[in-house]
Amino acid sequence: MTAQIIDGKALAEELRQSFKARVETLTAQGHQPGLVVILVGEDPASQVYVKNKVNGCLAIGMHSEKIVYDKDVDQQVVLDKIAELNADPSIHGILVQLPLPRHFDEEKVLEAISAEKDVDGFHAENVGALSQGAPRFIPCTPYGVMKMFEKGNVDLTGQEAVVIGRSNIVGKPMAMLLINAGATVTVCHSKTRDLNFHTRRADIVVAAVGKPKFVKGDMLKPGAVVIDVGINRLQEGPDAGKLCGDVDYEDCLNVAGQITPVPGGVGPMTITMLLANTIEAAERKAAVEAGARK
Ligand code: NAD
Repeated sequence: MTAQIIDGKALAEELRQSFKARVETLTAQGHQPGLVVILVGEDPASQVYVKNKVNGCLAIGMHSEKIVYDKDVDQQVVLDKIAELNADPSIHGILVQLPLPRHFDEEKVLEAISAEKDVDGFHAENVGALSQGAPRFIPCTPYGVMKMFEKGNVDLTGQEAVVIGRSNIVGKPMAMLLINAGATVTVCHSKTRDLNFHTRRADIVVAAVGKPKFVKGDMLKPGAVVIDVGINRLQEGPDAGKLCGDVDYEDCLNVAGQITPVPGGVGPMTITMLLANTIEAAERKAAVEAGARK
């Protein structure tokens, strides 16, 4: 049996095309969705991510701009800019690219973003809303994974799901979404005693570990749905420099029922869902203003 591949690249493209009409409608109503991305420092990977986020917006008719600060900038300068953007009615989403330089208090910066414009979904208020089952913004990567389940016609109700990784960005919100969707969820992490015990009984495995080819075929139940969130650059061997996931794709291909590739899996979905969150924010604002006029 060869696993069915859930093509994130194609799904991302399909969704982005479908967003265009919503952006057009909003723009015609005077609510062109706008996203500002703040970058501090010159981390090369962050520069690429920021460029892709801004270009992703522009390509579907949204407004987007990046604001770049020197790595030594005073935190207060960034906080002041966030306050200014919070008050700017033309901006619906504000995102601070992580990681921030060491002299920053990351939590303080993220909490400074208005919860209504927190399109990354990292603000405590939005984390709380998600855990209560009434999300305002869903963090982009797990949101993208949920869309992939939808695309693969994966019914999550009653399924045994194992999430490997407990980060605030991926693992924890992923677990919340799976719980909200009716799955029975186990979250594994670096302190988990017997990882294989958990993964081998899972109908669904989501790997967000940050270790190349960590999940092997013999860790899976045959037919499992395997979602690979990992993005790692191979350091050595003939494929040095190439991207690979947290799942050993070749090894799992004949065991899994469905699987996502890297690249071309979860990766393209993340920015797509950032666009979705910004459009949703603009739609909410437009609806509130329309309601106020009635
Ligand atoms: P992280 O380093 O914050 O978390 C990794 C998690 O893996 C931790 O919770 C840790 O406990 C767990 N872990 C480490 N070793 C383990 C082990 N031996 N057994 C079980 N669990 C173990 O990473 P993150 O931010 O959650 O990212 C995870 C991966 O996903 C990375 O490769 C990252 O690059 C990638 N990522 C991809 C996207 C995307 O758009 N596709 C977005 C965010 C992160």
